[in-house]
Amino acid sequence: MEQELSTIYEAQKIELKIIDNERTLFMAPKKIKEMDNELNEIKMKAEKEKEIIEELEKERKKKEKELETDKDKSKKLETKLYEVKTNKEYQAMLKEIEAVKAANDQTEEDVLILMDKVEDLKKDYDSSLSHLKKREKEIELEKNKIEKEIQSMDKTIAVLKTERDNLLSVVNERLRSVYIELREKRNGVAVSNAKNGVCLGCFMNIPPQLFIEVTKNKQLIQCPSCGRILYFSENE
Ligand SMILES: [Zn+2]
Repeated sequence: MEQELSTIYEAQKIELKIIDNERTLFMAPKKIKEMDNELNEIKMKAEKEKEIIEELEKERKKKEKELETDKDKSKKLETKLYEVKTNKEYQAMLKEIEAVKAANDQTEEDVLILMDKVEDLKKDYDSSLSHLKKREKEIELEKNKIEKEIQSMDKTIAVLKTERDNLLSVVNERLRSVYIELREKRNGVAVSNAKNGVCLGCFMNIPPQLFIEVTKNKQLIQCPSCGRILYFSENE
């Protein structure tokens, strides 16, 4: 029986590897999708920044054109100033020229503000682009790694399953059926180590007298709390 318990404990270890591999396999598409989503988000952010920059540049060009037209206008007004006949007309025209000049000053300031804004946004855009490039490279490597893992994983799982089944085939019928039943009920963990009087499957205390029996590894003893097959392994 001691040999059989040790065999079923080994089978359990392989079972855990199988579960681990199957989980990785199951999570792979989700992981890849998450990485794709991340790249898309960075791309969209950069795209948005580019759009805003283009919008502001358009605005700036429009203002510069306005400025040109208005400067012409004020020049024309200034030449007309010499053609006016009355003081009243002269004063009115001066006022008009001043208004145009004030408007021009405002437009010039607007242009400067727009230029500053564009400069800042271009910095953001550049850093978004370099972040994108960096993540694209990293994600490509990560994806290649996952794809390679997946390719070999089916084979690995098959090999592990054979190893496990070989071990299960050499233990007695009762031990095997308890194992298989518990494996279903306890998320793949049918055998647990018992250490310092505690079942490491459910972390409940094992009654001292029972624990002494468990440490002998001489009979099939199940945890009173979780029902798992208890195995005593001092080194693990
Ligand atoms: Zn337990």
